[in-house]
Order: sequence, then structure tokens, then C-alpha cells
Amino acid sequence: MSTEVQPHHKILIIGGGFGGVKAALKLCQVPNAHVTLISQTAVFSYYPQLYHAATGGSRAEAVIPLTQLFAAAAVELVTATITTLNAEAKTVTASDGQEFAYDELVLSLGSVTNYFGIAGLEKFAYNIKTIDGAERFKQHLHQQLIAERRPDVNYVVVGGGATGVELSGALAEYLHQITTKHGVTTNFRIDLVEASPRLLPHSSARTAAKVKRRLERLGINIMTGAEVEAETAESLQIKGQSIASRTVVWTAGVANNPFYQANASVLNLGDHGKVTVDDHMQARESVYVIGDNADTKYAGLAQTAVADGTFVAADIARKLRGVTRPRYHQSAPFPVIPIGDRWAAATIGPLEFYGFGGWMLRRLGDFVAYADIESLPGALKVWRLDGRREDDCPICGQPTAA
Ligand SMILES: Cc1cc2nc3c(=O)[nH]c(=O)nc-3n(C[C@H](O)[C@H](O)[C@H](O)COP(=O)(O)OP(=O)(O)OC[C@H]3O[C@@H](n4cnc5c(N)ncnc54)[C@H](O)[C@@H]3O)c2cc1C
Repeated sequence: MSTEVQPHHKILIIGGGFGGVKAALKLCQVPNAHVTLISQTAVFSYYPQLYHAATGGSRAEAVIPLTQLFAAAAVELVTATITTLNAEAKTVTASDGQEFAYDELVLSLGSVTNYFGIAGLEKFAYNIKTIDGAERFKQHLHQQLIAERRPDVNYVVVGGGATGVELSGALAEYLHQITTKHGVTTNFRIDLVEASPRLLPHSSARTAAKVKRRLERLGINIMTGAEVEAETAESLQIKGQSIASRTVVWTAGVANNPFYQANASVLNLGDHGKVTVDDHMQARESVYVIGDNADTKYAGLAQTAVADGTFVAADIARKLRGVTRPRYHQSAPFPVIPIGDRWAAATIGPLEFYGFGGWMLRRLGDFVAYADIESLPGALKVWRLDGRREDDCPICGQPTAA
């Protein structure tokens, strides 16, 4: 068995998110590996904090430049959108025609928003899946409350999953903050709309009940079993009923990255268009698919994507050294869902924590997640931004928080 690493092994990673960044940070330590990370934006998005950036938190806690994450790492960074995989030639092609060759390829492209073809949603609904979306939403709130002094009667969040409940809780407190600070008198309602019979369909019934009670205490009106049918500029249609609103946030659907459908002739797609992978997370020889894109039990969470990135990096390193490669083992994630200030629901195996204890676990989890991809001082700097600190009001330039 050879223990020599082949010289200049070309490792190509597509996607500068949780899975791709983690894999690149690990793989650049492999001797003689040349690692290139290609991503369609020059920043890493820390999605768990986007709800906070949308409701007054700092932009810097939700996006970090890739150059900062790789400042001390030997990784070549390229900004491009990859559209085509040629598995025979071992190349990928970008939308601008650039071609990149690989010996080992890791695909971690994340998921995209799915509007399920519901009329008007894509045009009128806000979404917080990107920092631009989160900032557009924040700008809209300030525009109507402060510049126009024309608050909505109803603020509607669609989707009772983790993102929807987190946003609803934060929105209740943020709207209160802005209106108090700027002296806007209003009597609005926040609706949280979910098509399933209960909130958090993927969490335990107990967690869902606790979160529901917490949201109700914050004044959120919860509508379950309520399917959205259409949206217009002034209203949302739910089961034939119309809710007057110019502020609807859609958090209810994701789909796999369209890259996979476009390359389905060379990859096997399983459940929900996700990619079937083997025991080493390979969709085919030397093509690894990880994170949200892989058809694995716990796909859809940052924790899973980071674990996948770590696994494939070790697998590729072992493959290059010609040593035994253990199989992929799926570890159950620890979901922590913050609802409003200093309250979270945390599940660690059979243990559940609610309230301030859950919040402390969330803060700890965020620190571990930042430290997983950043230097310790860098991680500490970003992590500390999560206080009640507030970016300035985009309309008047004054800090919004009291
Ligand atoms: C609002 C929100 C909140 C969330 N909160 C949590 C949470 O609290 N806890 C948790 O565990 N998970 C959370 N998640 C889920 C988590 O963020 C994802 O599971 C995780 O980001 C998946 O990592 P990934 O590497 O697969 O994809 P991503 O992190 O999405 O990274 C994909 C990368 O690929 C790039 N890309 C896409 N297409 C191309 C292309 N064609 N060419 C080149 N580059 C491309 C993108 O720009 C991006 O940089 C949340 C998700 C959202 C949207």
C-alpha cells in the first residue's frame, strides 16, 4: 500500500458556505494538494443570524468575506457560478465559460427558495435567505414606519419552521423598538402562518407547544393548517380569506440547487431532488456531494454541512494516501431555536432546555460555529456582535435601538 501523496492533486470545491468552507480549511492542510474554492459570491453567509440581521442586528454577524476566512490558508478563491459538470473529462464550467479541471470535486451549493409556483409570492414576498433579502426587508420596515408613517395592519410571516418562528419572535420586539424610538403610533398584528397542523413539524410536540406559548406571549397570532394560495401587492390569500398586508415574509419552502437538475444526466437524484451519495459521500467516483445537497438523513442544517465537510476532507486525504477509508456516519444535530430576546428552545439528545438556559446554549453553539471556520480572535469579534447592538436606521441614520 502506497503512503505517498501524488504531487499537485487538484481539489476543487464548489460553494463557499458551511460545507465548502469547512472542507477547504481542512483540505488545504493536506500535503501536495492544490485547493481551489469557487463560489458565486465573495462572502460566506452565516444563515442562522440572518433573522437577526433582518430585525436590527449587524450585517457583520451574518456575512463574512471569504478572503477573511482564508487569510491564513493556502486556498485559491474564485468568484464564479458553476453551471455544468463534465464527469468524464473531470471538469466543471462556469456561466462565463471558464473551465476548471479537478482530480477530486466537492459540491456544496446549498438550497434555494421554493415558492411552489404560488401566484404573486416571488414578486411581492420578502425573504431572508440572503443578506440582501434581509436588508431589503429591514429597509421596507423603516420606509413604511418612519419615512411614510404608514404602518401595516398585518405583518405576516409564512412558514412555521425554525426560520419562521425565529423571525416572528424577533420581529415582534423589533417593531416595538422602532415604533417606540421614532414615536410612531400604530396597532399592528403579526401573523405566523403555517400549512401543517402545528408549528415546527420536525421538532418534538413538546418543543412545538413551548415555542407556540412563547410566541403567543410576544403577541404573535398563530395560524396553523393555513395554506397560502396567492399574494398581491396589498394582501395575502389564505384558504379563500384575504389578509391585508404589504409585508409578507416567505420562509416556507426550499428546493435543492437547480445545478443538480441541470446535471441530472451524470448524477442520481433521490428524494426532493437531492443527490444520492455512497458511504463516502460520493455521487460518483471523485465527485463528492455534501450539506443541503446530499440525500442524507440530517441534510438541511449547518451542523450537518460542517460535519460533511470535515468528513469528505478526511476521506480525500486518506484516499490520496492510499489508506483505509472509514464510512460516513450521520450524527444527529442539536437544534436550538431562539425566540425573541434571551429565550431559546434547545434539544440535545433526550434533553430539552427552554428559556434563558436554551439561549445560553445557542450563544455557545454560535461561538463554536464561528470558531469552526474563523480564527479564534475573528470568531470572538463576530460573536460579540450579537448583543442588542443595532445598525443605524437606514432612513434617518440614527441608531434604532433605544
Ligand atoms: C434563514 C436560514 C436560517 C438557518 N438557520 C439555521 C440554524 O439556526 N441552524 C442550522 O444548523 N442550520 C440553519 N440553516 C440551514 C443552514 O444554513 C444550511 O443547512 C447550510 O447553510 C448548508 O450548508 P451548505 O454548505 O450545504 O450550503 P450553503 O451554506 O448554502 O452554501 C452554498 C454556497 O454555494 C454557493 N453557490 C450556490 N450555487 C453555486 C454555483 N452554481 N456556483 C458556485 N457557487 C454556488 C452559494 O453562494 C453559497 O456560498 C438556516 C438556513 C436559512 C436559510
